[in-house]
Amino acid sequence: MSNGPYYQGSCECGAVTLLVTDEPLAQGSDDQGNGWLVLDAAAVQVSGGLDALSTEFRDDGHPCSRCHQCRQWLLAEGDELTLIADILLPAEAEPPSPELAERLPWRLY
Ligand SMILES: [Zn+2]
Repeated sequence: MSNGPYYQGSCECGAVTLLVTDEPLAQGSDDQGNGWLVLDAAAVQVSGGLDALSTEFRDDGHPCSRCHQCRQWLLAEGDELTLIADILLPAEAEPPSPELAERLPWRLY
């Protein structure tokens, strides 16, 4: 394992834990103020509670994962990127560049 950034997070009930091994690429929020972080998909691992994760399809057909115990939205994946709820990680980043925003037609919430 590298000595680079290393973050751990979990859902509200603690059933699902995530390990993140790189700085977020970007950060933003939706119209309701729900924040998200964009990460390279390779930098995000579900380190615990895989059996508590359930995947649901949003209206746009994109799969998003949530904890089926506390119902918190946790992550959405696409185009080698992962969107995660920003309350999961103590990390901060700039808003997405136009190039990155174009790769994010999908949403977490
Ligand atoms: Zn939970």
